[in-house]
Amino acid sequence: MKYADIIIDISHERLDKTFEYIVPDELENQVAEGVQVVIPFGQGNRAITGYVVGLHDKPEFDVTKLKPIARVMRDSIAIESQLISLAAFLKRNYGSTMNQALKTVIPIKKKENEKLKKEISLNISLEQAKIELTELLTKKNHAVGKERLLKELLDVDVLDWELATKKLQVPSGNIRDLEKKGIIRVESVRTFRNPHMHKSESKHIVLNDEQEAAAERIKADIDTGRRKTYLIHGVTGSGKTEVYMDVMEHVINMGQQVIVLIPEIALTYQTVMRFYSRFGDRVSILNSRMSPGERFDQFERAKSGDISIMVGPRSALFTPFANLGLIIIDEEHEPSYKSEVIPRYHARETAVYRAHLSGATVILGSATPSLEAYSRAQSGEYELITLNNRAKGQDMAAVEIVDLREELKRGNRSMLSHRLLELMADRLNKKQQIMLFLNRRGLMGFVSCRACGKVLKCPHCDVALHLHKDGTMKCHYCGFTTRATKTCPSCGSKYIGSFKAGTQRLEEMVKEAFPSARVLRMDADTTKGKDGHEEILSAFAAHEADVLIGTQMIVKGHDFANVTLVGIVAADISLNESDYHSGERTFQLLTQAVGRAGRGSEPGIAIIQTYQPENYAVVTSAAQDYNGFYEQEIAYRGLLGYPPCSHILGIQVSSESERDAASQADILANLIRKVDPQVIIMGPQDAYIGKLKDVFRRVIYVKDQDYDRLVKIKDSIDSFLLEQKQYRNTTTWFDFDPINTL
Ligand code: ADP
Ligand code: ZN
Ligand code: ZN
Repeated sequence: MKYADIIIDISHERLDKTFEYIVPDELENQVAEGVQVVIPFGQGNRAITGYVVGLHDKPEFDVTKLKPIARVMRDSIAIESQLISLAAFLKRNYGSTMNQALKTVIPIKKKENEKLKKEISLNISLEQAKIELTELLTKKNHAVGKERLLKELLDVDVLDWELATKKLQVPSGNIRDLEKKGIIRVESVRTFRNPHMHKSESKHIVLNDEQEAAAERIKADIDTGRRKTYLIHGVTGSGKTEVYMDVMEHVINMGQQVIVLIPEIALTYQTVMRFYSRFGDRVSILNSRMSPGERFDQFERAKSGDISIMVGPRSALFTPFANLGLIIIDEEHEPSYKSEVIPRYHARETAVYRAHLSGATVILGSATPSLEAYSRAQSGEYELITLNNRAKGQDMAAVEIVDLREELKRGNRSMLSHRLLELMADRLNKKQQIMLFLNRRGLMGFVSCRACGKVLKCPHCDVALHLHKDGTMKCHYCGFTTRATKTCPSCGSKYIGSFKAGTQRLEEMVKEAFPSARVLRMDADTTKGKDGHEEILSAFAAHEADVLIGTQMIVKGHDFANVTLVGIVAADISLNESDYHSGERTFQLLTQAVGRAGRGSEPGIAIIQTYQPENYAVVTSAAQDYNGFYEQEIAYRGLLGYPPCSHILGIQVSSESERDAASQADILANLIRKVDPQVIIMGPQDAYIGKLKDVFRRVIYVKDQDYDRLVKIKDSIDSFLLEQKQYRNTTTWFDFDPINTL
């Protein structure tokens, strides 16, 4: 006999409320997670429908009080069923409770005070507005904010106040001025609305032959009922987005819906506008800054058929489209597609599963595919489509490698090599633009003693404190703040100081070398505000600066036509990381960075500065040789048994008691040895950050080629923990094929 947990009320806060029912023998092979059933409910045994969210062999309640499921709704293709099956998939493959998984796929409506939004629209006709704009432009020193606003309003009917002030950087004074003159209207509205675009036919692009062939191949499969997963490997600037949009249009014309996943960092105004101008208000955008209420509204619109396209980061994957035809994952290799919260699912695998449930097609796209996706394309599991040329026929940038060891020998200790300085001078002279990259994980502003080497750490976390301008030191993990010390707490030396963040130092050096150059810096410090990074990118796109310095966040989103020189200032920093992805991340960063140069009419050049010019990731990215990189990287992964050649299950055990965390981790390691003596176990060992917010963390890694074997180990641990009476003060969670070191 089996027993089912059933929820009768989805889509709001009562998701955790389940009811137990008996699964009658004759229904046993029809009842599965996600299936919609009819059950007798309450005193009067009213027949109502519910969804099965769990199945087990032992009843949790008194069997004599349980009622049986009445029947199974066989024809129901309710979207809820799909989402619950998807939750069951997450629970099984990534490790979590069903409740955590359900909360991941079904947005919970939070009651909240509705916020009013301000919207701006023209108060005069388009013709009059054009005249106003012309008049404005004839004035000397006219307000550029007004110019931007009027230009935008010639394109869109309604503009969000936030969008105008933040992304377009129109000062609110400018807006009020235009309002007073009766040119525009500012209104407060209750509900979230998208900007209503005029579809602009003028911008409609004709696909080139390579793009056309790619799109036709996918559309032909769709028309003949073949549902596959495609990997589009297209060089930077090859016009992948245009291919996506062509297939999207095809699918929408068939009356189906589309989900487009984009890394959050690339969800810029520019990218979003490309979708709006092609598909108008059939498009909706999700972003992580939305409140739960706003997200809920967007999902409701999707369910009601109000929209056909949802663009957003990985959570957009759970948009409740009833007739989903296509899922696109752009920049498929991005680590942000892996969830950092439990269940730690990967959007790529989950998308393929969702597509399987709804009979949809999946398109993955990247200039630097992940090893996972490319190896599947090699094995035929995905279909590989290659775009070898840039969309407008531009040449790829020329690449030069500068050996920093040689620079050092010549006495140059600066972050800028002679060759890079020389080229920068040339470009500044020609009024062309320059981008300089440093890896995010570059030197940070931590405080250390030059005499004894002590690094000042947070007392609650095993991480270094960072020096702030206000004379305090802060922990970026828990917020602990203390006054900066003048002497070393360990040896008493006065030689204690901080290393500035790499980007900040670089900025100073550029300003020193080129005092008249206009420099913009983009890093965690300068992008604190909600739209900080969008503002910087827009300013650079408008040529309000000559040099843009930044971490990899400047690699994405914008097409800067005037950039003819890209400098990768320190290619090595990402090579020295301890995790096995470092080669892949370096290759990706270098390739994407090189791809930023020469997107316009002028040819581009990229300089890679490195201490390891012979490293394969550096050599192959300089040669724009993805296949060469892939061959070496996959051999290395195979040799060491790393994904995708093998799978890894990461298990983290944490507790406020250091001893209990350690003991529990040992117990679990022994359990694994007993359950499956064949798998490789590494650890238990301290986590990468061994203590966080006063909680101690231990990790165990389990390796095997067979994913299902790791799933079984996870299940054994789960049932063990359920029964275990000791060590209740420890927490255990799982991470399959972790992207970051646990
Ligand atoms: P990717 O995503 O592959 O880097 P995009 O789709 O962003 O490339 O395209 C790069 C640039 O080339 C964009 O400005 C786009 O408008 C333009 N583009 C793409 N395809 C074409 C085409 N067939 N003709 C002209 N311009 C194109
Ligand atoms: Zn010291
Ligand atoms: Zn801390």
